[in-house]
Amino acid sequence: MCRPPAASTTRVIIAGAGPGGLLLQALLHARNASPDSATKYDITLIESRSDLGKLREEELQAHRSWMIGLSSHGLEAVRSVPGLFEKYLSDVGILLTEAYIYLGSKKIGGGSTTNGQEGFIVDRNFIVAALSRYAYENMSDSPYYRSKYDTELLYVDHQNHRILTRSKGTNEEEYLSYDLLVGADGVRSTVREAMVKRHFDFELKVCDIFQNFKAVHIKRPESVSPSSISILPASLPHFNGICLPETGDLINLSFGFSRNNIDKVADEIKSDDPKVVAKYFKENFKAFPLTEEGYADLADQWVKQRWNRTGMVHCNKYHSSECRIILLGDAAHATSPSIGMGMNTALRDAQKFNELLDRFNDDLEKVLPQYSIDRVPEGNALTDVALNLYCFDTGVGMRTMLRGLIQSGLHYLFPSLVDDGPNGILARSKFTLAEVYQAGNEQGILTKHREVNDRIRRQVFERETAMIVPKPRTGYSSLSVVAGMVACGMAGAFMFQ
Ligand SMILES: Cc1cc2nc3c(=O)[nH]c(=O)nc-3n(C[C@H](O)[C@H](O)[C@H](O)COP(=O)(O)OP(=O)(O)OC[C@H]3O[C@@H](n4cnc5c(N)ncnc54)[C@H](O)[C@@H]3O)c2cc1C
Repeated sequence: MCRPPAASTTRVIIAGAGPGGLLLQALLHARNASPDSATKYDITLIESRSDLGKLREEELQAHRSWMIGLSSHGLEAVRSVPGLFEKYLSDVGILLTEAYIYLGSKKIGGGSTTNGQEGFIVDRNFIVAALSRYAYENMSDSPYYRSKYDTELLYVDHQNHRILTRSKGTNEEEYLSYDLLVGADGVRSTVREAMVKRHFDFELKVCDIFQNFKAVHIKRPESVSPSSISILPASLPHFNGICLPETGDLINLSFGFSRNNIDKVADEIKSDDPKVVAKYFKENFKAFPLTEEGYADLADQWVKQRWNRTGMVHCNKYHSSECRIILLGDAAHATSPSIGMGMNTALRDAQKFNELLDRFNDDLEKVLPQYSIDRVPEGNALTDVALNLYCFDTGVGMRTMLRGLIQSGLHYLFPSLVDDGPNGILARSKFTLAEVYQAGNEQGILTKHREVNDRIRRQVFERETAMIVPKPRTGYSSLSVVAGMVACGMAGAFMFQ
């Protein structure tokens, strides 16, 4: 296929075929297809893994990952590509109609409880496969598009605006030049490393989310509605959980604990014997009963997986004009799944970047800095809210949750007198994440939890790295302190005689 003339094109390399990168390529393709587009985007997609879009439906079932809650934020972004949701996505997930919180076995909530906002539950890999299928069916004839799967981005030569890649199949290495490099390559982004090297004022923090979790896909028990989401706070001792619906009449149950509680978590749930785990769930998980096969299947999947951990990323800018780079999605702001907004924000980044191309007539000199101005507050609000809306101290967290439930009840009854809490406004797309962050701070929730969480994290770090070691309580040490004080006192007394 012959390439378009260079003068009219902007060569874009998108690193990472996750949801963020794939939505951006669809949006750029739509720009190319528009009759009034003055600039054509010559897109090359680089992805280190295989292409899920090539799999048949049955094959894809074997590549299930974790379930994602897409709220209005993400859905609006997807719908900015005409037909994408209706033709490619709507069939692979489930639209929510009910939402519940279980306190023990007590179920609170009901139908249409998502504030009139949509919620769509879908497997991460099903979204990726659907977006890739969209590319095949709509973009593969375009002279402005090519994808390189099973190809790893190894290095960004930011001074010369080119990248080095290696094909996994042939081991061949290749340099590719770009006018814009999009780092949509997730939490361990290679693109981001160029910004660390180039800019001394670039702030980057990568850390873990301080939670260990496991997730299983089991047959839906009868008492769980097939289109409901259920929050399961303290559903096992020291664990919070969530239950999401899946296609195929399954549910996705996830349970996690914060790492400060690792010694308090029961040995049974750490066991690698499925019978022990099944018995523990049967006795301790009160929200809803499973069938005997359900407990057995849950336990079987539980013992076969390690504890999952995932990372958080904080950056103070998402672009480099000198390197001609932008960061998008998890590469910019990976976060805890606790509020289910990571992918929503990744998709929004792509949508907002595209809107800036409209606003500045494709002038990247203007678009890039504005992208940081607009998205850095959102990304950092996302990571802070996801981390600190919940508290690593289970008691404090439970009290905040109960107060939050009362507050949303009062807000429902007296909207002009009582403000909604950050949880209540989170899913509503008319509020930005920065506004949620502000409300959470003003209402004291984030400030309080941040203080507790930072303290707990530091204490665990000090213990794990042996910066602070527990002292033996023998009485000897306190005796020597007293003796030392007496000796100092006597010495002082002599000196001042
Ligand atoms: C358990 C769990 C539950 C979650 N639940 C939700 C939820 O309910 N709602 C929500 O909105 N979000 C949720 N998230 C977050 C969501 O999954 C991520 O925010 C989202 O996938 C980010 O998309 P992305 O495109 O930025 O990056 P990714 O999905 O991480 O994709 C990055 C891509 O880049 C590729 N790549 C990486 N390095 C290279 C390289 N060097 N060369 C080439 N390719 C490379 C990777 O293979 C990958 O395909 C959850 C996350 C987890 C872990």
